[in-house]
Amino acid sequence: MLKCPLDGTELTKLEKKWHYSRFTVLSYRCEKCQRSIRGYYYHERLAFTIPKNMQSLIRKNVLAYLKGHKGLGSTEQIAEALRISVPEVKNTLKELERGGIVENIHGKK
Ligand SMILES: [Zn+2]
Repeated sequence: MLKCPLDGTELTKLEKKWHYSRFTVLSYRCEKCQRSIRGYYYHERLAFTIPKNMQSLIRKNVLAYLKGHKGLGSTEQIAEALRISVPEVKNTLKELERGGIVENIHGKK
């Protein structure tokens, strides 16, 4: 059972399900904090969860980091600097690349 990463509430209200890259994404509404929480599943196992409104915050922070470091930095360095997980960084970079904002920063798509 997926839990809200912000308050630990068990998530039972499935809103949407879709595929993103190699992940299956399940979006739930947390009944306690009313945020949309996305669970990213890889091979039926939960890989990571991201609250929806935090995704834009993470995106903003990753972009700011990349600008401040002239686009340099490994996903591990970015994760450590921003105190987020490596999958969150990778996911954000993928999103930014797809949006044409970041071009091949890490040499591969
Ligand atoms: Zn919550």
